[in-house]
Amino acid sequence: MKKLLILGAGTAGTMVANRLHRLLDPDEWKITIVDQHETHYYQPGLLFIPFGMYSKNDVVKPRRDFIPAGVEMIMSGVDSIEPEHNRVKLAQGGRYLNYDFLVIATGTDIHPEQTPGLHEHEWYKSIFDFYTIEGALALAKHLRTWRGGRLVLNVVETPIKCPVAPLEFIMLADWFFHEQGLRDRVELIYTTPLPGAFTKPIASKHLGDILERKDVKIMPEFIVEHVDPDAKKLVSFDEQKVEYDLLVTVPVNMGAEAVARSGMGDELNYVPVDKHTFVSPTYPNVFALGDAAALPASKAGSVAHFAVDCFAENFLRYIDGLELLPTFDGHANCFIESGFGKGLLIDFNYDQEPLPGRYPMPGVGPFTLLEESEFNHWGKLMFRWMYWNILLKGQELPLPARMSMAGKWIK
Ligand SMILES: Cc1cc2nc3c(=O)[nH]c(=O)nc-3n(C[C@H](O)[C@H](O)[C@H](O)COP(=O)(O)OP(=O)(O)OC[C@H]3O[C@@H](n4cnc5c(N)ncnc54)[C@H](O)[C@@H]3O)c2cc1C
Repeated sequence: MKKLLILGAGTAGTMVANRLHRLLDPDEWKITIVDQHETHYYQPGLLFIPFGMYSKNDVVKPRRDFIPAGVEMIMSGVDSIEPEHNRVKLAQGGRYLNYDFLVIATGTDIHPEQTPGLHEHEWYKSIFDFYTIEGALALAKHLRTWRGGRLVLNVVETPIKCPVAPLEFIMLADWFFHEQGLRDRVELIYTTPLPGAFTKPIASKHLGDILERKDVKIMPEFIVEHVDPDAKKLVSFDEQKVEYDLLVTVPVNMGAEAVARSGMGDELNYVPVDKHTFVSPTYPNVFALGDAAALPASKAGSVAHFAVDCFAENFLRYIDGLELLPTFDGHANCFIESGFGKGLLIDFNYDQEPLPGRYPMPGVGPFTLLEESEFNHWGKLMFRWMYWNILLKGQELPLPARMSMAGKWIK
């Protein structure tokens, strides 16, 4: 039997396990997947929890429900990978798992301890994250009784997973405080290391204009050096100081410690792989998918989905002795919730920045690109059902894995 080992049963790992379980001959292949936690979180839903739109129950399901019978699931942390010996050491019991092929899908997580002052006595008192279930729930509780002041949303460093989530947060905050009758008592400030609202110029202009209309002040190129939790101040490397009453942070994102311990990561613990095929340049039987991969693409569930589509087909060629085809183009698409029951959609890849236009979707679409619409808001909400029922199970969606220019407006 040949052994395929998948590390991480999050979005990418679960999708790839389902897809390859269907495609590989069970008489020849044994697939094993390892994860450290029993619960699978629908991470895009964490955004809605602080504003009372979703509860914890709306975003959690048992991980095992999504792993097909026939795939071995091991609940354990991964201690380290020994690629020279084609084996992985588990954290529990020091057991080793051998592999013929390895897929690393251990994602990325927040590291507030990397910023002095952030993760100290004011953590979950006046400083919150919304990238974890604990942070989102603590912030929801805090917002229920907060009577206004200056809310600063700070992105410490890029890359972060779901680069549009901070924008969505600040736009939903604008809506939420309007609903609460508090908007005139709340000042909203968005401090970001980026030169504008988003990485790419056209989207940055569209999104920046929307933030301006919503009276959200952007402070670009703000690179936080430390937080003074007692004086409630953010201090940047160039000594700008921003006071806050409530700080919502997107801390430094980093890949798994296990990757670092194995000497397989870059400075942020992401695994360098070929940007079109996901294969490691050093170990030809090792791949990295999803947020764990060091790619110039967005770290997003949609990217993991398109990546798995490309990878699964390529993997079948590879094990038959054919070369990997450079099929993945960095395709990402994300709904951006903008408050008041509206949203935008962006669709882009390595070479093409997000453009305005229409995104065709058979039987449902078109969705408006880079323009607010109610339909996009419903698309965003519908996505949760699609995630649990179609995507995680590795079923096909009528969305091309490679980006299409259909509907995009080029000036
Ligand atoms: C607030 C928020 C909003 C988002 N919104 C969107 C959105 O609207 N659209 C979108 O496309 N994406 C969105 N995302 C991003 C999306 O959720 C992630 O990009 C996606 O889940 C990445 O999948 P992954 O499999 O790479 O990582 P994950 O799904 O995070 O899975 C990684 C898995 O690896 C496991 N693991 C890690 N280390 C170890 C170890 N040492 N041992 C064992 N197991 C380990 C973890 O337990 C986890 O289950 C959002 C994320 C957040 C936080």
